[in-house]
Amino acid sequence: MQDYKGLLAEVLIPEDALQRRIAELGAEISADYAGEELLLICILKGGVMFLTDLVRHITVPVEFDFMAVSSYGAGARQSSGQVRIEMDLRVSLTDKHVILVEDIVDTGHTIAAVLELLETRRPKSLKVCSLLDKSERREVVVPLHYRGFDIPNKFVFGYGLDLDEYWRNLPFIGVAKTD
Ligand code: 5GP
Repeated sequence: MQDYKGLLAEVLIPEDALQRRIAELGAEISADYAGEELLLICILKGGVMFLTDLVRHITVPVEFDFMAVSSYGAGARQSSGQVRIEMDLRVSLTDKHVILVEDIVDTGHTIAAVLELLETRRPKSLKVCSLLDKSERREVVVPLHYRGFDIPNKFVFGYGLDLDEYWRNLPFIGVAKTD
């Protein structure tokens, strides 16, 4: 297999900038939920690196759980607006303060569909924290309470985000070459 360097157009967000911003988000969340307990929900697989770094900066009692969704009826780089639950949560959301942790909000369809589903489970509160926001691509309005970086309309990979399922393990966010 080709090394990622041949697939990388540029490093968009280097590791130190990512980690600094994640520490800030963790501090902000800790202040906002002072005196409360918190449940973080991570959407697999893209959000997993972000979640595990973020929780290290959260000082209130926190539990986390995972769910996997897939969008269908679209190509690998396009979101269709319909999601299927591949793996559901194990914990109950009832009367809990919940934050949904995502790698990237692009068109917004995925988050909108997941939020609609989670609202039916009666959390005490439900917010969204996304590391990346491709705001110029938005097709549906989604509430983004915590946001790491607003990024341009380019296909990115690394730090949880894949390029054909590989390179999620890179510690930075890179822009993929267009061929
Ligand atoms: P949305 O439903 O907001 O359009 O899409 C969200 C999902 O699309 C993300 O969770 C992610 O899986 C995928 N996605 C959107 N933009 C990118 C990108 O630039 N790179 C990668 N690897 N995935 C992306």
